[in-house]
Amino acid sequence: MATGIVGEFLDLKAETDADVLAMQCGDFYEFFADDAELVADELDLTVSQKSSHGSSYPMAGVPLSELTPYVKALVERGYRVAVADQYETDAGDHAREITRVVTPGTLLETSDDDARYLAAVVREGDGGGRGTDDGRADSGCDHGPYGLALADVTTGRFLVTELDDASDLRAELYRFDPAEVLPGPGLRNDDDLLAAVREDLSGSVSVFDAEAFAPGRARHAVSEQFGDEAADSVGIDSEPAIRAAGAVLAYVEETGAGVLASITRLTAYGDGDHVDVDATTQRNLELTETMRGDADGTLFETVDHTVTAAGGRRLREWLTRPRRDRDALERRLDAVEALASAALARDRVREVLGDAADLERLAARTTSGSAGARELLSVRDTLALVPALADAVAETTLADSPVAAVLDGVDRERTSALREELADALAEDPPQTKTQGGLLRKGYDDELDELIERHEAVTEWLDTLAEREKREHGLSHVTVDRNKTDGYYIQVGKSVADRVPEGYREIKTLKNSKRFVTDELEEREREVLRLEEARGELEYELFEALRERVAADAELLQDVGRAIAEIDALASLATHAAGNDWTRPTLTDERRLDVEAGRHPVVERTTDFVPNDLELDAERGFLIVTGPNMSGKSTYMRQAALIQLLAQAGSFVPARAAEVGLVDGIYTRVGALDELAQGRSTFMVEMQELSNILHSATADSLVILDEVGRGTATYDGISIAWAATEYLHNEVRARTLFATHYHELTTLADHLPRVENVHVAVDERDGEVTFLRTVRDGPTNRSYGVHVADLAGVPDPVVSRAAEVLDRLRAEKAIEARGGSRDGADSAGHGSRDGNADGEGGDTKQVVFDLSSGSFAAADERSRPAGAGATGRSSADGSTADGSADGGTATAGVDPETAAVIEELSSVDVAETTPVELLSRVQEWQERLDR
Ligand code: ADP
Repeated sequence: MATGIVGEFLDLKAETDADVLAMQCGDFYEFFADDAELVADELDLTVSQKSSHGSSYPMAGVPLSELTPYVKALVERGYRVAVADQYETDAGDHAREITRVVTPGTLLETSDDDARYLAAVVREGDGGGRGTDDGRADSGCDHGPYGLALADVTTGRFLVTELDDASDLRAELYRFDPAEVLPGPGLRNDDDLLAAVREDLSGSVSVFDAEAFAPGRARHAVSEQFGDEAADSVGIDSEPAIRAAGAVLAYVEETGAGVLASITRLTAYGDGDHVDVDATTQRNLELTETMRGDADGTLFETVDHTVTAAGGRRLREWLTRPRRDRDALERRLDAVEALASAALARDRVREVLGDAADLERLAARTTSGSAGARELLSVRDTLALVPALADAVAETTLADSPVAAVLDGVDRERTSALREELADALAEDPPQTKTQGGLLRKGYDDELDELIERHEAVTEWLDTLAEREKREHGLSHVTVDRNKTDGYYIQVGKSVADRVPEGYREIKTLKNSKRFVTDELEEREREVLRLEEARGELEYELFEALRERVAADAELLQDVGRAIAEIDALASLATHAAGNDWTRPTLTDERRLDVEAGRHPVVERTTDFVPNDLELDAERGFLIVTGPNMSGKSTYMRQAALIQLLAQAGSFVPARAAEVGLVDGIYTRVGALDELAQGRSTFMVEMQELSNILHSATADSLVILDEVGRGTATYDGISIAWAATEYLHNEVRARTLFATHYHELTTLADHLPRVENVHVAVDERDGEVTFLRTVRDGPTNRSYGVHVADLAGVPDPVVSRAAEVLDRLRAEKAIEARGGSRDGADSAGHGSRDGNADGEGGDTKQVVFDLSSGSFAAADERSRPAGAGATGRSSADGSTADGSADGGTATAGVDPETAAVIEELSSVDVAETTPVELLSRVQEWQERLDR
């Protein structure tokens, strides 16, 4: 058992659940034992050994004044750092106690411009007095609702909402990417949630006092912070949401050093406000991060021309949380349009904004008491921009636009009053330190002025002393100076040292000179020290009062900061629209997405882009997109999703014209190579994503499917894709774009009324393929499985034999198309999801697709039942997922070895296989076929 200083450290460490403890020992903060090793590893500190009563412990330390950057670095790496400060006891000893815990979600000193959220998540009924405390009981279930509260202590932003299920929760967490997550008592053992958080987010998970999540305590905390009526007046009646909010507030109070005061406004939002863009879709569409994890090449990076950090945060939020409120979107579009068409005014606005400091953040720094004089100067200078900004937006075309209205929320009188007050108070070039004077202007405070005058008078006397001594006593080589040991002294060269006047007392002899003091000098010295101290103290006191005065106006700073952020984000969208020939979308409540000459917002930046039209509406709601690999299918579909998303972010869109029906959600699934690296089977992931879409999408959603069923055997895959198409078409009725390499699916267009085919055209001449990048109506004219093998140079005999065998295989297979179920009777228990039947699909069609002829026949017209497997039911219900073509009939007429070769051939991913590998596989296939 360690005693002494190390023992004290270990005792304190045991008191806290922080990961690391920094303990003050005199002029240093020290880390001992494991903590020393940890900080040494993370921060390159040198470890020494501290012996304590016979044992030796690793020790690392940093000087008192240098702790902050170290703490910041540790916290940014996800550690929670406790700081213990030293104080003097009544008995005159030194004792230490933990004064604060700095955590990723409550770190104020961040150099990163992005928002930095602390989140609490609560599941209804968990540990809140009802239900069980053990999350495991329910683990794996999707049971909501969930309460989510998010606080950004750096700006004072505070958001609360309720979410229906775990997938909504994940999407929301992914969107805000909190630095720290506090799971409620019932969720701590929810492995699924925690795994999801770890996988999706860069933040860390912290366990916090379960009591803070209790409904009574939480409600009280919310009332204390925002007022009794606040929760009601913003319409939060969800218990889990209140519990999450209360827990966040309690946590900030407990750990954050005084930042709670910056949280002044409670913002609640509900399900209906935003477009549902799940985490997978945010990733697939590369909104703020590419699939590879880069920031370059994202939608955000492309349209971001903001000039302030706060504007960047705002724009990012608009893109990741598109809205459904048409009026709000029209207002934003009006503003973008006005700014886009007024180039000069826009430049002026951006020029003014360019000088703005991050007021949202400065507000938090004043309330927490960490802002210094230079920061208050930035507040002053930024407030001073408001009139210039108001002038800029009052110009011609902008004056009647919502851009001008953004500033209406700012109290201009209070703004200029505060600015003047700061201008009157602050010195122009204050020092970094707060305690050595020089912070405030003359004329700000009478008492201070008097001190300053007296101080200046003495300094003046001291400064001119040497001259006087020379003159009066005829001494050459005289200087007056001051140092730590001697204080003020008169230094006289040795040659004249014996001629000094009476009253000079020698205090030191140096090589070439002597130092003297006089009574008067000592007197003045005492006075100067007294005055310096008094001035420093008074200035600091006055400065603190001034800062408190500014902190009391934190809400005003936040208002101005918000207006700056908003105008900056609007100007950014306008800048991009004007520079790239984007157009204002026409928003409509009709179910349609009609794009003329649309482009992909990111790809068009680096490519000679071929624009394409898109037409999705009530009659034509489901497009099957075919075309060879690399022809542009994904690009076309993502472009549709991005145009939809941009329109609902209030942005112009890359198209000649676009009519955009508002959606409640955008869902995508695309081939996910990354997942494979994470050890999750691609097929499992694919099916989870598909499942989520089929559950979540509605008739008002946009669904993008880039290949479904690729991760399993062909017939499994076709069956699933087929059934999913029917379900989306008949039941969900979402606007859908579905790219597939299963040529078979294209025949669905003949039988499901709203399904149409489009294909990306290629030009083939003499075996040379030219990508035209043009999307045309109708299906591709061939199946690309075998075609791709052909393109890849697989020898002709194999390709033609494969085509032959495929035909034979198809002859034995039959798939039924089930169209337009409206009564729910045969929709596998899902029931009809959309009441407004469109009339054309009243009957269930029982049609069989004969794959050998490539055509359909009514079920009763079938000339022969094609074996046991072809019972006229989609094989989705009965097939196995073991990768084999399912049961007997598939190989009827073909020996099993040939069937296996065909299967392997058609599932080869040419893009992922090296030519050498392909050659050797082809050789192997030939050998097997010969046998
Ligand atoms: P697919 O999904 O059919 O395999 P992609 O959509 O990935 O094909 O497109 C392949 C490449 O073609 C992309 O990298 C893109 O640069 C280019 N491309 C796609 N569409 C267009 C277009 N409309 N104009 C110009 N280039 C395009």
